[in-house]
Amino acid sequence: MTELRDLYQQLILDHNQHPRNFGVLEGADLTARGNNPLCGDQLDLYVALEDDSIKDIRFEGSGCAIFKSSTSIMTTVVKGKTRGEALEIFERFHRLATTGEVDSAEMGKLAALASVYKYPARVKCALLAWRTLETALQEQGEIVSTE
Ligand code: ZN
Repeated sequence: MTELRDLYQQLILDHNQHPRNFGVLEGADLTARGNNPLCGDQLDLYVALEDDSIKDIRFEGSGCAIFKSSTSIMTTVVKGKTRGEALEIFERFHRLATTGEVDSAEMGKLAALASVYKYPARVKCALLAWRTLETALQEQGEIVSTE
């Protein structure tokens, strides 16, 4: 069990140091801004859609390690998913982050954040990117200008 925890720790450190899908996405169909003033985490999220699927997703922002790794992992998990699938994963991740309940087989890399529920102040850091994604996706296809 300790080994597994170390592995998860490694994954978080890795995503914090080398965030995936980091940067501005030119021509994004949806954008949303997220802000967690309690910790100082903030991000701009960019989503490109193809039909109803997330063709590409990128983010820019700064904040704590939990925020950055959670956001990075999220982008790798939802890329290629439909909006409905992405929101379903958010629902499951929300349960994981607030209760620690995890179905490892289904949650994959997201399980790395399973112990965050023990630190209530950190839950917001872990959920910020997901809440921002939800906001972006709920634009229901309306293109949000980044001007
Ligand atoms: Zn934070």
